[in-house]
Amino acid sequence: TALTAATLPDLPAGVPRPAYDRSRLRTGIVHFGVGGFHRAHQAMYLDRLMNDGKALDWAICGVGVMPADRRMKEVLDAQDGLYTLVVKAPDGTMEPRVIGAIHDYLFAPDDPEAVVGRLTDEATRIVSLTVTEGGYNFSAVTGEFDESDPAVQHDLRPGAAPTTTFGFITEALARRRDRGTPPFTIMSCDNIQGNGDAARRSFVAFARLRDPALADWVAREVRFPNCMVDRITPVTTEEDIAEVRNRFGIDDRWPVVCEPFTQWVLEDDFTLGRPPFEDAGVQLVEDVEPYELMKLRLLNASHQALCYFGYLAGYRLVHEVCQDQLFATFLLDYMDREATPTLEPVPGIDLSEYKHNLIARFSNAAVRDTVARLCAESSDRIPKWLLPVIRHNLASGGEIHRSAAVVASWARYAEGVDEQGAPIDVVDPLRDVLMAYARRNREDPLAFVANRQVFGDLVDDDRFVSAYRRALASLHHKGARATLEGLRAGLS
Ligand code: NAD
Repeated sequence: TALTAATLPDLPAGVPRPAYDRSRLRTGIVHFGVGGFHRAHQAMYLDRLMNDGKALDWAICGVGVMPADRRMKEVLDAQDGLYTLVVKAPDGTMEPRVIGAIHDYLFAPDDPEAVVGRLTDEATRIVSLTVTEGGYNFSAVTGEFDESDPAVQHDLRPGAAPTTTFGFITEALARRRDRGTPPFTIMSCDNIQGNGDAARRSFVAFARLRDPALADWVAREVRFPNCMVDRITPVTTEEDIAEVRNRFGIDDRWPVVCEPFTQWVLEDDFTLGRPPFEDAGVQLVEDVEPYELMKLRLLNASHQALCYFGYLAGYRLVHEVCQDQLFATFLLDYMDREATPTLEPVPGIDLSEYKHNLIARFSNAAVRDTVARLCAESSDRIPKWLLPVIRHNLASGGEIHRSAAVVASWARYAEGVDEQGAPIDVVDPLRDVLMAYARRNREDPLAFVANRQVFGDLVDDDRFVSAYRRALASLHHKGARATLEGLRAGLS
């Protein structure tokens, strides 16, 4: 059955679907970056509330600003915003559910004014974002908002129709201010430390380039709660689409698959209220930082710790890497000896249990997360997730040789050829630069980390440099597995 509002009653009996009357939904949230993760996480939490008869005035209107988002527009329009979320347990059991919380979707290039209009509407009280780590437009060199970005330059031209997240949201904020409508809350759900603070810096910087008085108003009036989000959501594959059709009888053009685990720790700081998220299992806290650091340095940095080594060793699926004891031991050692000492105590969380649970989650064979997904956009990720651990330990005298080896494994990966001699498709906004440096690795072992745009002054630290050189030499001479064996034996 093709999934639409009209065919919902015809779906097989075992498939849960919206129990609420979707015609009663009203937009309360406008979301930029409706991808796999938003559909597995925030939209799922809202759907839970709606199934309890709550938050019906907090339905989501998605917005896509990137050219590639046209496909999401076509699919969601054809399916009345409905899609299937399939939760995959390690034992192979699958739990499908049709989610109904997204009731509208605007593809911004088609009609920019419609997006600004929706954002300006008083009913829009939260604007949420999953626009990737790179979507906040910080310069890798200065760490400041990159005003030289051509799209940003375009959006700053007086009278230009907006094209970026910044352009749309700022135009709407300006109109709300001028009309005396209070501003919405901007809620970032990207994997960035202090994601709310990062969003605040970006939006205030953009507004300042446009109009300093507007920037002051945004800084004063808009709330940007920080949050920690967690649920592993791989890219949907053709096999997933076929599986949803064959197992559940649903013809869904773009379902989402994810792991059973889900977590959202959110600061309770909203200008115009919020849905009763706590009723859906969201933890509302005063200070999200300890949770955030735990997640970014244990989960996200471990993803980087496994992906380049894993790829070089010939693995293409994450669970295969983690089911290999050599890798699991490496990850646990990285977490116990290098990441954990940089963390503050995390209220209510047993870190040892959390870490073992992470290995179990990564080992979930049903999710089929790919090593390639984790290797992508590394230049946005390593500096945000792993380098802070290294810097902390360099300052405190802590251990760094496993983290340094992870950086070396990225350098080796960016050479663009695996250990079998096959080419590697390096996916990264800085691909050309990274590969040019990495190609010089053998003649100049520090070439890759001398790139200050990514690594800052790390290359000036002798302790880091010596651990990094050892690991890179070992990767070149002995390969990924032997390098991990050496690290386990304490040889490097
Ligand atoms: P995705 O590729 O499915 O979706 C990304 C969305 O962001 C797309 O709609 C894309 O058009 C949009 N986007 C990308 N760059 C943009 C930009 N510069 N401006 C505006 N929109 C932009 O990816 P996803 O799996 O949904 O992940 C999105 C983000 O969610 C991640 O980058 C991460 O920060 C966060 N997240 C993902 C996971 C996960 O497991 N996938 C887990 C936790 C957090």
